[in-house]
Amino acid sequence: METLTAALRSLLPHDSVITDPVRLRTYECDGLTYHRATPGVVVLPGTAEQVARVVRLCNDFGVPFVARGSGTGLSGGALPREDGVLIVTSKMRRILEIDLADRRAVVEPGVTNLAITEAVRDQGYYYAPDPSSQQVCSIGGNVAENSGGAHCLKYGFTVNHVEACEIVTPDGDLVTLDRMDPGYDLLGAFVGSEGTLGIATKITVRLCRAPETVTTVLAAFESIEQGGQAVSAIIGAGIVPAAIEMMDALAIEAAEAAVACSYPEGAGAVLIVELDGPSAEVERQFAQLRDICSGAFELRVAADAAERAAIWKGRKSAFAAVGRISPAYIVQDGVVPRTSLPGVLAAIDRLSQEHGIRVANVFHAGDGNLHPLVLFDDAEPGAGERAETVSGAILDLCIEHGGSITGEHGVGVDKSRYMPRMFSEDDLDTMQLVRCAFDPQGLANPGKVFPTPRLCGEVPGVRKGVHPLVESGKAEQF
Ligand SMILES: Cc1cc2nc3c(=O)[nH]c(=O)nc-3n(C[C@H](O)[C@H](O)[C@H](O)COP(=O)(O)OP(=O)(O)OC[C@H]3O[C@@H](n4cnc5c(N)ncnc54)[C@H](O)[C@@H]3O)c2cc1C
Repeated sequence: METLTAALRSLLPHDSVITDPVRLRTYECDGLTYHRATPGVVVLPGTAEQVARVVRLCNDFGVPFVARGSGTGLSGGALPREDGVLIVTSKMRRILEIDLADRRAVVEPGVTNLAITEAVRDQGYYYAPDPSSQQVCSIGGNVAENSGGAHCLKYGFTVNHVEACEIVTPDGDLVTLDRMDPGYDLLGAFVGSEGTLGIATKITVRLCRAPETVTTVLAAFESIEQGGQAVSAIIGAGIVPAAIEMMDALAIEAAEAAVACSYPEGAGAVLIVELDGPSAEVERQFAQLRDICSGAFELRVAADAAERAAIWKGRKSAFAAVGRISPAYIVQDGVVPRTSLPGVLAAIDRLSQEHGIRVANVFHAGDGNLHPLVLFDDAEPGAGERAETVSGAILDLCIEHGGSITGEHGVGVDKSRYMPRMFSEDDLDTMQLVRCAFDPQGLANPGKVFPTPRLCGEVPGVRKGVHPLVESGKAEQF
């Protein structure tokens, strides 16, 4: 590492290479603070060419590297390696081009999600995917996680909004993956690859036209079951709102304590439904929505942008707010079909009671994307283990109901052990082959996503010798 660090210093400006043990600790974890490691060295390149040179050096020295944007990830994806280099993109924050005629923006990876919208808002445009961390999370991190957000129900995830990516491949080449390229959808493979297939250095994103009308509604129900039924009924009626979010009583209690959002008192669940589009369509959908939510004991409609922001305030601050009602918590992220929501929520409640662990629910209800917040007191012996058990059992529930172990926070280091519950050995081996094709040396973010990382050349890997199908004359090798 010492020789490598000296070489890094010759490549980058002095203040872009961090080795001071105290400063290194700033980078020891992402938003999942349970996993920590002090990086061997941290670099803050300012250009794509510098990223490429750092990666080439890592290859020369056979040293692993991990990309980091803003470190808000919730699955330990940016957890550094003690024997590796952490490549942080926070100095790469330029918006390089805005092309409203083609509805595109070209940005560096460290640009924050919200900064893109802020750059085009006055012209009537915005960038649609909106993770609740959007004020700080980087677009490079969004690409790596295929991030979602409240408005992804109608508009799709990051993958639907990225047109092209310049990347530094794991062996240090600078290449561009474009949606328009014929052949395999390599851009599709890269988006959501959690830093294991290379580092994004320039991203072309789609810009959307701001809708003519936005109507934001807060519906308060006595129980979470009633809220869940309303969600199914809204979608069943053919309405695709821009967002449908739900919070249960415990999540509301936390949000009230943190940001005094003034949600209706005594609510067992609140739904936030946002309708957007042409005025006539929104008016018609709102009339339907009012009928569907007739069981709500209060229905608030935001009269202006300030009231809309007030409704969203409680939801957007919900994760952090939980710190007000519990000393420690695990943010879980799983998906179930929407119709399974009431059953799964009831099962989570049973798990919570069995293990004496409180669970607050706040989630993207329209997508069936649950974010149970599993609360525990880390000073109480055994509470952390019980919370882990509940958290894992929730993922089993999601799989049993035909869902997934992650909706938008990624697998990272946290959920790699759950991958075999969803995928067979063959599935995992096939994914490893893709990884090996991009990263034959296994240096890009190793130890993430897969439970048993294999080196390329081991099984699975490049076959040594003639394939039996070729030998039998059934296939031909070119
Ligand atoms: C309060 C809060 C709310 C959140 N709400 C949401 C939400 O609503 N929806 C949602 O989807 N997520 C949400 N998240 C999770 C998180 O913000 C997203 O996953 C986000 O995309 C991470 O971006 P980042 O810049 O912080 O990435 P980091 O945490 O720094 O990194 C995340 C992963 O991306 C990789 N990476 C980073 N930059 C690059 C790059 N340039 N090239 C290749 N790989 C890279 C890292 O190696 C790592 O694997 C939330 C997090 C918090 C703390």
